Amino acid sequence: MPQPLITIRDAQRTVLEATTRLDPEPVDIEHALDRVLATALTAAGDVPPFACSAMDGYAVIADGQQGRLAIVGESRAGTPSEHTINAGETIRISTGAALPPGATAVVRQEDVSRNGETIELQVSPEPGANVRHPGEDMRAGTPVLAAGTQLEAPHLGAAVAAGAGSVIVTRRPKVSVLCTGDELRAPGEALGPGEIHNSNAPMLAALAIHAGAAAGSPQRLPDDAAATEAGLAAALEAADVLIVTGGVSVGPHDHVRPALSRLGVEQHFWGVSLQPGKPTWFGTHEETLVFGLPGNPVSAAVTFSLFVNPALATMLGTEAPRPPAKQARLSTAVPRNPAREQAIRIRLEQTTSEPAATPNGPQGSHILTSLLGADALALIAPGDGDLPAGTLVELAHLAT
Ligand code: AMP
Ligand code: MG
Repeated sequence: MPQPLITIRDAQRTVLEATTRLDPEPVDIEHALDRVLATALTAAGDVPPFACSAMDGYAVIADGQQGRLAIVGESRAGTPSEHTINAGETIRISTGAALPPGATAVVRQEDVSRNGETIELQVSPEPGANVRHPGEDMRAGTPVLAAGTQLEAPHLGAAVAAGAGSVIVTRRPKVSVLCTGDELRAPGEALGPGEIHNSNAPMLAALAIHAGAAAGSPQRLPDDAAATEAGLAAALEAADVLIVTGGVSVGPHDHVRPALSRLGVEQHFWGVSLQPGKPTWFGTHEETLVFGLPGNPVSAAVTFSLFVNPALATMLGTEAPRPPAKQARLSTAVPRNPAREQAIRIRLEQTTSEPAATPNGPQGSHILTSLLGADALALIAPGDGDLPAGTLVELAHLAT
């Protein structure tokens, strides 16, 4: 690995400089959950589209007159009354039904006494009482959702109310996950001597999907130069983002870098001043981003969070996810790495001032349980000895 190692920020900048936004495509509203809007969505018409009632009751002319009113019709949701109200008249009206011509207010049915086909008002309504005005929620032609919005349930409701049947979203990045290692067995398989389960495969595919990408089934590659090259070549064909785990270090069975080089993938950096995650490799092949992440699962999750997640957000044209707070105070002393910045998995606890950060158990790069229930990464600058309790540290998003 080259010395000195690139810093986390320089590595992030390098990745983002090589990343471009993907093309927009239309998608039906029913398939738009979690997609990212490529263009702002404006209201096609006023919402509500017409003056309507906010209550079940009686549409009236609010002229301060009391006395009996004759019920001359009904306006139901979806079936407006066409009768124009005259003095002394009222029209029965349901919530959401169009206000009949001439009416200026609605009196709740609780506020009238009904006698056959007449009513007597027990209140004197102001003009506009219990009336929903056209455009009160959205005005025709005005923006409702900004470009870059990741569509959650309320956004879908608002888009449909605004008149959309489909939306223009950014194409999902296609992510291929390749896990190298002779020792890896598929989830649930019995382990032979020296073997471990391929925990990176489902975890990284899930991280990619949570970040808004489309991830196919992860592939396993043996620690063999030819097989590594063939597997990488096939994946490069189809992917916008190729994530390879393991095999990027300096061991005799680490075949990923030479294979990528033979395939013409241009190296942008190899080796980050980061613990865990030092052997992280990044390169590009035409528009495809290639991340070589370390094999240790915690290193893979941390480097995904720091480098892959922001790239996926940029491809999608949305904001990179942020940690719950910018900074937190260490609740306990943390041993420093003399040379590299550390990204420790922490739990956050809200105190009266800033949140308190507590390491989420042992921090070894093979300790997968340190990811469980962690709220963020705390970035610990290199140095000698412990960083004392009470120190304010910067937080980074931990992808889940
Ligand atoms: P490597 O980066 O290939 O040297 O692997 C570093 C460590 O991570 C080794 O202990 C590997 O067994 C382990 N490892 C590599 N790939 C995976 C994987 N897909 N799932 C779980 N552990 C892995
Ligand atoms: Mg390996």
